[in-house]
Amino acid sequence: MDLKGQVAIVTGGSRGIGKGCTMALAEAGADVVIAYRKDEDAAHKTEAEVSAMGRRCLTFKADVTNQEQVKALVDKTIETFGRIDILVNNAGGPSTGRWLVHTEPTELLYQINTHIMGPFFFTKAVLPTMRQQKSGNIIFISSVETKMFPAGHIPYAVGKAGVEAMARCLALEERDYGIRANVVAPGVIETDMSRRVAKALKGTSNVIELFDKWPLGRPGKPSDIANLIVFLVSDKASYISGQVIFVDGGGAPLWELSES
Ligand code: NDP
Repeated sequence: MDLKGQVAIVTGGSRGIGKGCTMALAEAGADVVIAYRKDEDAAHKTEAEVSAMGRRCLTFKADVTNQEQVKALVDKTIETFGRIDILVNNAGGPSTGRWLVHTEPTELLYQINTHIMGPFFFTKAVLPTMRQQKSGNIIFISSVETKMFPAGHIPYAVGKAGVEAMARCLALEERDYGIRANVVAPGVIETDMSRRVAKALKGTSNVIELFDKWPLGRPGKPSDIANLIVFLVSDKASYISGQVIFVDGGGAPLWELSES
């Protein structure tokens, strides 16, 4: 896959799955803009790793839920690189596992803001440039939860189902402009997010302890997600748009079903 000369924005591109995407896109030849929210050290560390590969990298503090900050990042990207070819809407936050009966409206709003409004603001901001170029690729990160809809995950699953709907409509709206939109839905991937969940549920940040039996015998890795994304944004996938592709090793392990 050759992405030389292309410019990618990865939201939450500093850590976890987003970092995996940043590194894989850079390895394929793209220059990368990392949007981060607060972990400046992680952003700069990833920036240094990308620069060491000979690619250009820009880090920019932008909360995806803040439309002004999103617009500022996109303006800076165009000012610096002159184009935008790839957007990976990856930034996200975990589920608390509470059942609806114990869920406060603020938790649902947090998930909607992060997983729906964030991708909406970013996508809206890059579309004029992509339309002008008559090309572009937009990836949305969903979750295996839209296959399982597990108890205790309503706010998170609502956010991820919403972003899948957005991507599928968008693929139709933008196809005459040469812009493709696809969704990648990960199973449980070993990152800070899943380590936090393991800590909360099992008292250890070793993700392997979350379940007795893992699909394909192991948790997923950020590179499992990033490899698919590099393929989807490449010309090899030029007839694929509006799809939701699960990368879950054949099905996620079952989540706890007891009420919390
Ligand atoms: P991590 O917690 O490891 O990393 C989250 C990243 O998102 C960080 O770079 C963080 O930046 C950034 N971020 C979070 N909120 C915002 C915000 N409001 N604005 C800008 N950046 C933000 O998460 P993962 O890598 O595990 O998850 C990435 C995506 O994958 C999420 O959308 C998640 O829902 C999804 N996913 C993850 C799964 C898993 O098992 N890990 C499974 C299925 C889906 P900073 O450090 O600066 O705060």
